[in-house]
Amino acid sequence: MAILEVEGLRKEYGNFVAVEGSSFSIDRGEVFGVVGPNGAGKTTTLKMLAGLVEPTGGTARVAGYEPGEPAMQRRLGFLPEESPLYEEMTARSYLRFFADLYGVPREVADERIERTLDRLDLEHRDRRLGNVSKGMKRKVAITRALVNDPDVLIFDEPASGLDPLTTNYIIEFTRELSEEGKTIVFSAHNLFHVESICDRIAVMNEGRIIARGSVEEIREAHGGTVYYVYATVEGSHGLEAVETADSPVTVSRENGHVEHVVEEMAHVEAIREAVEAADGRITDIQTETPTLEEIFLELASDSPEEAEA
Ligand code: ADP
Repeated sequence: MAILEVEGLRKEYGNFVAVEGSSFSIDRGEVFGVVGPNGAGKTTTLKMLAGLVEPTGGTARVAGYEPGEPAMQRRLGFLPEESPLYEEMTARSYLRFFADLYGVPREVADERIERTLDRLDLEHRDRRLGNVSKGMKRKVAITRALVNDPDVLIFDEPASGLDPLTTNYIIEFTRELSEEGKTIVFSAHNLFHVESICDRIAVMNEGRIIARGSVEEIREAHGGTVYYVYATVEGSHGLEAVETADSPVTVSRENGHVEHVVEEMAHVEAIREAVEAADGRITDIQTETPTLEEIFLELASDSPEEAEA
């Protein structure tokens, strides 16, 4: 059942369209990734969901409420991309302060805060926030997003710019939160771990969603296996015959060596036949399955329209 529904969501800043008509829905308990390069519109989208930026068009519903409604705020935890903390406060006092703002009773808050900090392996809970590492600050900010025990978590770049160990902690913790039934929407500009924790993703570029679906669906729809076929053929007549074989791309043609790049096995067969007919020989065939990163770069570079996976 959808807990978060977005229809034609749009944000303009003057004449500039930061988010152009996004639509998607997220089921309860899902981990949904919003991915894309810097400037794609991810933060703006997440802030509209959290009720922090007013949309100029479209609608969003979180747990049945409009973003910004107090009843929705109680069920939502938002982790901003940059979260300046009160440097003079300690982690404990800062988190208690936020729990008070949400009206969480002190004993409940203390138990929740300590448990979350335990799970994130955060030490130095009574050290001033001005004196703790970037990774620790991020863990405190994540704990802050959880003080009201929300159903829906919106995390903007939760692990960006952190060391690999802290990143792992945060990704693992996010996975555990999802297993406990929380719905999580998070953004990422690099794809580290997106593949392992997201049920579904939306790929954004220049304000638009250009692909949506599970990682598998996107991979199948946009990133088939590529075959590299290497052949040697004597004489220019033979070369021409092979080059005109049913093959879209010939990469190189040097000293009788031909390299074809094709996306279908049938094309590999056609090249093999043409090479044999020209008395040449296939020297090597290699396959390459693109990484998610490569698929996204490809999508971002050439797709103005949304491609539904
Ligand atoms: P992302 O999170 O994918 O990096 P953002 O949502 O932060 O992208 O930004 C999308 C685009 O909107 C960017 O070109 C950014 O410069 C622009 N933008 C964001 N906020 C504002 C604002 N308050 N005023 C004007 N332009 C903005």
